[in-house]
Amino acid sequence: MTSLRPIELTCPECATSFSACIYASIDTWMDPNLIERILREELGVMCPGCGGVLHVDYELLLSCRRGTIRISTSDPVEVNRKKLLEKGVIDGDGNVVDWIRSSAMHKE
Ligand SMILES: [Zn+2]
Repeated sequence: MTSLRPIELTCPECATSFSACIYASIDTWMDPNLIERILREELGVMCPGCGGVLHVDYELLLSCRRGTIRISTSDPVEVNRKKLLEKGVIDGDGNVVDWIRSSAMHKE
């Protein structure tokens, strides 16, 4: 199941304290768009005070057909891309493979 974890953050730019939700685990076949966000490094949290995006270091578990992938947002995107490629979640061009897209569409 895709699940979220609440965290408390303080923005280094404007010192606003706020709570946000980060992903604790993701089902690849439910959320193909999230895989693209991982690859584009768009898992940051937006500050409600200044609108800046805060990078948060955390780990999330990604479930796919061939097992579970542990993704860390502090790893370089190349490392995470390699993990996704090894498990067949993305192809060599970095695109989310078709079966994930089609099963996500089928669900709706
Ligand atoms: Zn801020």
